[in-house]
Formats: sequence, C-alpha cells, structure tokens
Amino acid sequence: MKTEDEHRRDICAVGRWIHQRGYVASTDGNISLRLDPHRILTSPTGISKGMMAPDDLVITDLEGNKLSGRRNPSSELAMHLLIYRRRPDVNAVCHAHPPVATGYASAGLALNRAILAELVLSLGCIPVARYGTPGTPELTDAIEPLVRNYDAILMANHGVVTCGADLLAAFFRMETTEHFALVALVTELLGKQVLLSGGDVEKLLAARARYGVQTAAPTTAECPVTADATDAERITLTRRELETLIDEAIQKERSRLQRFCNID
Ligand SMILES: [Zn+2]
Repeated sequence: MKTEDEHRRDICAVGRWIHQRGYVASTDGNISLRLDPHRILTSPTGISKGMMAPDDLVITDLEGNKLSGRRNPSSELAMHLLIYRRRPDVNAVCHAHPPVATGYASAGLALNRAILAELVLSLGCIPVARYGTPGTPELTDAIEPLVRNYDAILMANHGVVTCGADLLAAFFRMETTEHFALVALVTELLGKQVLLSGGDVEKLLAARARYGVQTAAPTTAECPVTADATDAERITLTRRELETLIDEAIQKERSRLQRFCNID
C-alpha cells in the first residue's frame, strides 16, 4: 500500500512523462487515482502536467466535491468519476491528447484492426466515442457506453482516456495507444495492412490468462477486425469475368444514352 505522499509523487511523475512524450500541450490533460473508496486524488486545472508539484494536487469525493487542496480540480474530473463509478476494478485514469491517436479520433476512426499481436493481447481494440463538448455531461454521456468494456477510448475530435488497476497501468495504456496509432498510421502510409486471422486472434486471446493480462476488453467479431472479416467482404474475379462485367455496364450505359437522346 502506498502512502498519500507516494501517490502524489506518482501523479507528478506521470504528468512529466505525458508532457515529455508530447501527449499534451500547454495545460492539457488530467490524471487521477483512487486514494480509498471515497476519495480521489487528481491533477488540478490550469497547470502544465509536466510542472506539477505534489501539493498542487486536489482531493475530491466521488461526486467531485473538493475535500482539500489550494487549487481546483480539472473540468474533466466528471469523466474520471464516471469511470471510477462504473469500474470498481479501476484505480487510476489518464486523459491526454497524444497527436497520432488524437488524429485517428479526429478522423472518427477506431483503432480496431488486428495488425499488432501485442495490442490484441493487451487492449483488444480501441473504440472511438462520439464527440461531446469537453467539461459537460455531453462528454460523459458519449464515453459511458464504452467505459465498462474498454480500458482505452478515443474521444472524437478531442483525445484519449485510459484507465487501469493502478496509475502505471493507466499510463502504459496511454503509451500503448499512441504507439499503436503510430504503427497503424505507418501501415496506412505504406498503403498496406496485413491483418491477423480470426484463428491468430483467438490464440492471442487465449494467451491473455497465461500472460496475466487483466483487461475489460470484450472479444467480439468486430473487436478486433480480423483478416476473416475483411476476406468475407472480398470477391475474386478472373480477368475474363471482369471484362464481361465492364462490357455489360458499357452496353447498359450506351442503351440508356440512346434512349435518352433518341439517337443510334
Ligand atoms: Zn482533453
């Protein structure tokens, strides 16, 4: 069991890491942890997460009422509190705007394709929650349907929120999310993604217990998307079949034009 002072120093250390890695700019982002069943220790509003001192942090109850601290909690505290209420297994939450993952969030794209074994093992996939105005109930409403089943969530046109059994787990999930987004982006730039098969994914999910992976991630046909799912959508044609289809389409268009113009 860590002391409150140790937890304060841990939040400041994670604040420096997310700032040094460029996951936040200016005073963006917020970090919190559950001190005990009734108290949350959180980063304050209006300060760079890379420059926090242990006594800058704020303690609130689970309704967000300030219990101690000379600063005020972040306007995004409601999002953290929602996660603590819905997930008794979660003791820490990280919110940041890492640029590549936030790029995917801003494109409305989930990070849900089975292109990396490690990610299938750890997070399964990372969904994108619909947009909600920051600091309002719109934002908590948008992430609520996903909170129970995912440890990392992209927030449309905003950023990323991750959670874990302890602060290091929540931070690592932020780091994993940004790293995976970068790998996914590289495959997009290369113009090619080779997805793992459903069988490969099943083996990885079965290995979670062996590796001691604790995650809320569901295992559904859509999470993550495998080669089997994309193969089901793919059709193959011979050159001759393709030429016949094109000829038929041209013939159809030609007769439509002839009827329209009344010419031959
Ligand atoms: Zn934010």
